[in-house]
Amino acid sequence: MVSSLGDGVDLLYIDRIFLHERTGSIALKGLQEKKRPLRHPENVFCTIDHIVDTLPGRGDETLMMGGKDFIQSTRASARDAGITFFDIGDAQQGIVHVISPEQAIVLPGLTVICPDSHTCTQGAFGALAFGVGSTEAEHAMATGCLRLEKPKTLQISFEGQLSEGVTAKDMILYLIGKYSAAGGSGYSVEFCGDAVSALDMEARMTLCNMAVEFGAFTGMIAPDEKTIAYLEGRPYAPKGVDWTRALCDWQNLESDEKANFDKKITINAADIPPMITWGTSPGQAMALDGLVPDSAKMSDPHAQQAAEKALAYMDIHPGRPLSGLAIDGAFIGSCTNSRLSDLRRAGEILKGRKVAEGVRAICVPGSSAVKRQAEAEGLDRIFTDAGFEWRESGCSMCFYAGGESFGLEQRVVTSTNRNFESRQGPRVRSHLASPETVAASAIMGHIASPKEVEDGTL
Ligand code: SF4
Repeated sequence: MVSSLGDGVDLLYIDRIFLHERTGSIALKGLQEKKRPLRHPENVFCTIDHIVDTLPGRGDETLMMGGKDFIQSTRASARDAGITFFDIGDAQQGIVHVISPEQAIVLPGLTVICPDSHTCTQGAFGALAFGVGSTEAEHAMATGCLRLEKPKTLQISFEGQLSEGVTAKDMILYLIGKYSAAGGSGYSVEFCGDAVSALDMEARMTLCNMAVEFGAFTGMIAPDEKTIAYLEGRPYAPKGVDWTRALCDWQNLESDEKANFDKKITINAADIPPMITWGTSPGQAMALDGLVPDSAKMSDPHAQQAAEKALAYMDIHPGRPLSGLAIDGAFIGSCTNSRLSDLRRAGEILKGRKVAEGVRAICVPGSSAVKRQAEAEGLDRIFTDAGFEWRESGCSMCFYAGGESFGLEQRVVTSTNRNFESRQGPRVRSHLASPETVAASAIMGHIASPKEVEDGTL
């Protein structure tokens, strides 16, 4: 903190600023127009992920109208500003929240911002990482600082062990389903407990990624040996004596045992089943083997109204199972679930099997590095032999802005984080789930669990 500005507002030093070609380009242009130099260009990074196509052989041309201008102006602005730029075709290119950890640009204890709401993903490293508007990004680039009203604190403890086949995606969907998409509103969340400690770093990123879908300002997890093992030796991690010094600092980033939180939630990890969403908000989530809730039985009139609208949009019926519902598409990708471990787990289900006829199945690795490593392990062959499209890295069909999309009113099981109306294409019906459930559903041609693929049971 640089100083307290009073009334709960602080001036924070911002250690890292990450931009992408959609909103970051606006911030860079804003500075250029005002002829303001960047205070610390060495702390600013930019990637091309949102608008760029993910089809093999891609270049600056995009399916999105005007997308090429965004890409080219971002490239020119990034070069003029002297910041680190991960361009199309670069070995380090990828989705911002995948490549920042991969490169160890995010580190424990740092403040990290990006004009993108899923910046909370990077809280998995014990950083204060949060999404901002492009005007705030512009301000932080010019001054190195940002005003922040201190959020309230919420500790969410997942106690005990997860059941077999239950993933970090299921944990976060369960949380949001139980406490609503506004349950974390106004809070900065610390995830903790045995089940969180047991997660690897990639799964921790999945958990923190959707803190914003819980309405939270951000999510974070205290750094531990897994965090350190993940970061060591990566390009932007401190080296030599700086690394030793950093380790000492990071050891102090855990919450004190007697720390006061404004609110605490405890969840028994064993209660969490594999999850899927039925509606058009991540909070409209249910057990994969459960029944679609009955809006008529909802006591809250707002929830009831929202449920009725969602049921109509999704073309599903209360009281019926989602399992067995025919699908048109399957998507594995996004900053939630597109890392190597996600692809490995999906690959285990796909190996030696075929995607059902009529299902369009797409895998988009989260970064060029993930793609390369997956190819070195032969995962690309497993996906393509099964009938999946194997793409270049980027946001792709996580987010439709006139570019890549599924077809009108298609039903898609997806490893992404938002199931809003038309998020993946015009009137597309998106069901959020783990990569395992996406792979299983692609094979069966309907919403299905990995268990159904293995032994025919739900
Ligand atoms: S993958 Fe999706 S959620 Fe993540 S940064 Fe890209 S558009 Fe946003």
